[in-house]
Amino acid sequence: MEVLATHRDMPDPLGAINHGSSGQPRTPTSRIETPNLQTPYVRDDTESSYPENESNKRVKLTIKEDLHTKTHGLFGEVPEEQVAILTPFVSKPLTLELRTVPVIRPSLGEVVVRIAWTGICASDIYFATGTDATYCSHSHIGGHEGIGHIAQSHDPAHIGQAVGMRFMAYTCGVCCYCLKGVPESCPRQVCFTRHLRGSYQQYATVPYTSLTILPDYVFQHENPAIYTAALCSGAAALKALRKAGIRPNDVVVVIGIGGQIGYLAGVMARRVYSARVVGIDIASKANSSTIGEACDVYLPSPTEGGTHMSDEFQSLLQSTCTKLRADPNLPRGADVVIAAGSSGDSYRDLPSYVCDGGSIGFVGSPTYSVTFDVKRILERQLSIKGTLMGDRQDSYQVMDYIRSGILKPKMNEIELQDLPEYMQGFLAQKNWGKGVARINGPLPSAAPLTR
Ligand SMILES: [Zn+2]
Ligand SMILES: [Zn+2]
Repeated sequence: MEVLATHRDMPDPLGAINHGSSGQPRTPTSRIETPNLQTPYVRDDTESSYPENESNKRVKLTIKEDLHTKTHGLFGEVPEEQVAILTPFVSKPLTLELRTVPVIRPSLGEVVVRIAWTGICASDIYFATGTDATYCSHSHIGGHEGIGHIAQSHDPAHIGQAVGMRFMAYTCGVCCYCLKGVPESCPRQVCFTRHLRGSYQQYATVPYTSLTILPDYVFQHENPAIYTAALCSGAAALKALRKAGIRPNDVVVVIGIGGQIGYLAGVMARRVYSARVVGIDIASKANSSTIGEACDVYLPSPTEGGTHMSDEFQSLLQSTCTKLRADPNLPRGADVVIAAGSSGDSYRDLPSYVCDGGSIGFVGSPTYSVTFDVKRILERQLSIKGTLMGDRQDSYQVMDYIRSGILKPKMNEIELQDLPEYMQGFLAQKNWGKGVARINGPLPSAAPLTR
């Protein structure tokens, strides 16, 4: 049956979400906040839900006549059940379980995405352990770096589209924060994991408007999984560099160079901005295979206590920056420091990392607090910039860097069932580089999709 409804005709799938009135969105109270995965969601398509009038007549007809939705031959039948990594309880210690859960039937405006791979983000630990209590409910499915194809929709034009799942799934685009380039504060935002089930599952049923349409080249690549790096950590790393005002040939210090964001920030600083990079991380990450790619010089994190950087480390840092800059006449620290680690002694005295006029950029999921001497910031004219995550354009930019070969993210690929153990590795500071979980993998056929 051909579907006649257009987007304009359809009810807003996101309209049920209870948004806050300020830049801090409240936890929504709609059905997607507390998914009960034991009971498949059944949409109420009764007459009373859609009282007939001239404007919705066509929608009603579509609902009645196309309840089966359209399934593309390449995908086979979308199954009734799937496996997923579930967070049964938001609490400490971190608990993630491999479960069989229903595939939710899409309502109007929703599609089912067959997820091929998902990037793995340490932020999911915070969502799963309740570090931020407003984020997630019990029995949620994490993951916000999924890539795959639309396998089921009420609109046949969607079938086969390559799509991505970014944390910031939807923002209004017209509020003061969206216009200001801070969509993360949009009061109408919809986010994966917080509002929608994420990508740690085989088939995600989500509003079409929550998806990021992927360029054709993503699934033409020999290893499409590397593009998951563009959806969260890569975009955040790029935005952090931009907001910190990086310029070509700068000397940049990246703290947390062995982590996902730090690694990508280091590589892009070098490859996109021709910067010289000093990478800092705990000694146990010194030999990870990504360190050499992400920085010109690696320095182990200073470990001594106190509130200031030791003279010895400061001297080492300054001489390293000066050597990399090849300007011995004016020894000085870095132009930019990107603080991308989650914790550590490296954060004690960030102004000491940069020269006068330098920038301090924060990004990632910090578990530390720092204090600044305002007089020192003012006199040395330092800038402090915070980056929560990259926006959609940053993701597309990173994808283009991957397409052109400027960026070749090294991925540690695991199977979905190994994800709970991998997440524990973040807590033990064992992981390095960028993690990705194979879910369904690529489509079984490379044949062109016909819609
Ligand atoms: Zn993330
Ligand atoms: Zn907005």
